[in-house]
Amino acid sequence: MRTQVGIVGAGPAGLVLAHLLHRQGIDSVVLERQSREHVERRVRAGVLEHGTVDLLTEVGLADRLLRERMVHHGLELLFEGEAYRIPLRELSGQDITIYGQHELVKDLIAARIATGEPLLFAVDDVVLAGLDGVTPTISFTEDGARRELHCDIVAGCDGFHGISRDHVPDGAATYYEREYPFAWLGILAQARPSSEELIYAYHDRGFALHSMRSPEITRLYLQVRPDEPLAEWPDERIWSELRSRLARRAGGWTLSDGPILEKGITAMRSFVMDPMRYGRLFLAGDAAHIVPPTGAKGLNLAVADVLVLAGALDAWFRSGNSALLDAYSQTCLRRVWRVQHFSWWMTSMLHRAADADPFTHQLQLSQLRYVTSSRAAATSLAENYVGLPLPGRG
Ligand SMILES: Cc1cc2nc3c(=O)[nH]c(=O)nc-3n(C[C@H](O)[C@H](O)[C@H](O)COP(=O)(O)OP(=O)(O)OC[C@H]3O[C@@H](n4cnc5c(N)ncnc54)[C@H](O)[C@@H]3O)c2cc1C
Repeated sequence: MRTQVGIVGAGPAGLVLAHLLHRQGIDSVVLERQSREHVERRVRAGVLEHGTVDLLTEVGLADRLLRERMVHHGLELLFEGEAYRIPLRELSGQDITIYGQHELVKDLIAARIATGEPLLFAVDDVVLAGLDGVTPTISFTEDGARRELHCDIVAGCDGFHGISRDHVPDGAATYYEREYPFAWLGILAQARPSSEELIYAYHDRGFALHSMRSPEITRLYLQVRPDEPLAEWPDERIWSELRSRLARRAGGWTLSDGPILEKGITAMRSFVMDPMRYGRLFLAGDAAHIVPPTGAKGLNLAVADVLVLAGALDAWFRSGNSALLDAYSQTCLRRVWRVQHFSWWMTSMLHRAADADPFTHQLQLSQLRYVTSSRAAATSLAENYVGLPLPGRG
């Protein structure tokens, strides 16, 4: 098998890249470890920046998204039992879109299949070779048979736990990492959202987030310990904890509950690889960087990376000009570090570490009071939350 770009991973990064390349007349093969059913059901992100939505719309990937999404013009910060609205649209001129990542992945897979170009699910033992030469290969097992794909370029879009990054030799990249002393217990519930907008709550018992996926499905999160056993969280304990952390002093607000459709615990980490490239291997999305989910940025960052990569590959395949490819990592990392800072800042402001001292608590309250009372501070939150312009735009 031969292709121009071998893409490892059919998450948002790999599938959007494949689509952009197809529009530019560049061949690719997408290899995915999981089954189609698995990736279409994997519940993760839900907040899309306006730039992500604009790009998906421009390239014909947003028909269902535009029909079914929820558009939010603001969000709420809740602390000391009082709720404060951050009017995103008024402050930044932009909105955010709520649309489940798994729904987007379904749309992206359908679009890929419609092109007739290869997207192979359930491939195993993916191994990269020749990355420092001019004809890298990807070998993998499909239906029990070993196969080899010869490429000009390999795109490592296989997420944080993928194999692409492991093929970068020791010393060829610098890794920046921070682990947080907490995790998120997330549930998906068959319950009508209790608020029209997202609620980020800072509480003595820990952070909580109220969000939604549709007018019938609520997505809720609780800060827990990273080693917290899920078995210790029966449904009633989850609802009771959510009710405590999302309560308002004035009363008059109730959390609607319902059957829990899914629950899971996600560790929180910040991670950046620099450069996001080794030879002919280009890493994009979670394969190259991870942010804690508090800023709702990971998927959006993955899309920004592949927009840059697709543009650079277009120039290179057309004219042999490698300037944009050579600048790929640097171009992406500027945005990555801005988003890292914002995600770290939101996380630090809103979570209670088990061993946090009273001084830290007072600093967090001071920051929350500032961001909810100063238009300048709220505008900074808003412009980062709705998303800065995509690279090369605005
Ligand atoms: C609880 C939670 C909430 C989040 N909320 C938000 C949010 O609101 N907004 C936001 O923007 N982001 C959010 N994120 C982050 C977002 O989900 C990720 O950043 C996003 O999935 C990254 O996309 P990706 O394509 O880079 O990686 P992934 O989605 O991880 O895709 C990688 C793909 O590669 C495949 N793969 C892995 N290894 C191999 C292999 N060896 N061979 C072949 N294929 C392989 C995987 O199966 C997967 O399909 C959230 C994440 C979590 C966990």
